[in-house]
Amino acid sequence: MPAPIQKLLKIDGSTGEGGGQIIRTALSLSMLTGMPIEIINIRAGRAKPGLMRQHLVCLQASQVISDAAVTGAHLGSTAFSFSPSTIKSGDYTFDIGSAGSTSLVLQTLLPALLFANTDERTKSTVTIKGGTHNPLAPTTDFLTGVFVPALAKLGMQVNIDLQQAGFAPIGGGSIKATIAPFLRRANTPPFKLTERGELVNINLVASVLNLEYDICKRELASAQAALIESGIDKALITTQSHKLHGIGEGNTCYAQVTHTVDEPPTHKTGTQKPHQEMFTLLGEKRSSAENMGSRLAGLVKRYLFNTHALVDEYLTDQLLLPLASSGGGEFSSRMISGHTETQAWLIEQFLPVQIIFDTIDNEKTLVKINA
Ligand code: AMP
Repeated sequence: MPAPIQKLLKIDGSTGEGGGQIIRTALSLSMLTGMPIEIINIRAGRAKPGLMRQHLVCLQASQVISDAAVTGAHLGSTAFSFSPSTIKSGDYTFDIGSAGSTSLVLQTLLPALLFANTDERTKSTVTIKGGTHNPLAPTTDFLTGVFVPALAKLGMQVNIDLQQAGFAPIGGGSIKATIAPFLRRANTPPFKLTERGELVNINLVASVLNLEYDICKRELASAQAALIESGIDKALITTQSHKLHGIGEGNTCYAQVTHTVDEPPTHKTGTQKPHQEMFTLLGEKRSSAENMGSRLAGLVKRYLFNTHALVDEYLTDQLLLPLASSGGGEFSSRMISGHTETQAWLIEQFLPVQIIFDTIDNEKTLVKINA
């Protein structure tokens, strides 16, 4: 029997935050629900409006995995239409062809391959070539250290490997994701990640790609000193440095901060797994290693001392879609960004959910997703 014809949803791409996120999230939701979309005014307020390489690859990759009918798929396009058919699991490779973010392309495809897959037994693999450490996007480290563990709390099994690092302007990086189809069990308790427990560990990590290894040592020493100076117990801080593989040059340092969660488990039995957050900086020519280290410590201190929330700004917008499509739940957030507000607005266009932001004492917001 042919699938029922769905009404076309017309989206103004300049709404709210008005960036690439509207395109990516609309593609994810279109594939999830089968609803055809038309997006106009793409990135209208940006210096270079229209589809850039990374957005175009998101559109083309979505077309491949969902066998979609598409118009307007070219660089600089300010409007496109997308009408998905059936999601196919499989082994896919996509090449952005620039240093564009591999993480953002993967996040576009993930919901479809997790939820809407027709073959519920077959894992998919997705290899994406391009940038792995981009400004204004999650790095591969953020995906593996924060996003994937958060998905695991929802019972979603995704594994991501950094095969080769890629920094701007050359790129040349590669990630490979393995995605198991997700089936929500009827007796799964609602997702709840609201009460921050004890600080368990701050892992400071610095990495270089074809640059002096000494940079890592200096970044870590500076970050560690600034954290200790602010009263954090030295025993809670660990450090690691890595030489990355790939072409071009680059440097990144990040802090992975782990807290216990004062809440019953949301999935399976046993205790609730700890929560991880990550704060990332990318090396810049005009910024010394010492300066990077102290800026990194500043990001950690803001999270530790200015809020009792568990989830920070970036994971907040990235969690909304997986949560809205898997039964809802609630979590505490340090900050509701324009990205998060736009994301919530868009999700409510496609799914029968209500997303509520309830700010408490100006230091955290309770995000509730009623599905
Ligand atoms: P857009 O600006 O529309 O391309 O979307 C950017 C996406 O990258 C959002 O989902 C942000 O949460 C995410 N993002 C930006 N900066 C970071 C960061 N430093 N760490 C993790 N995620 C980030």
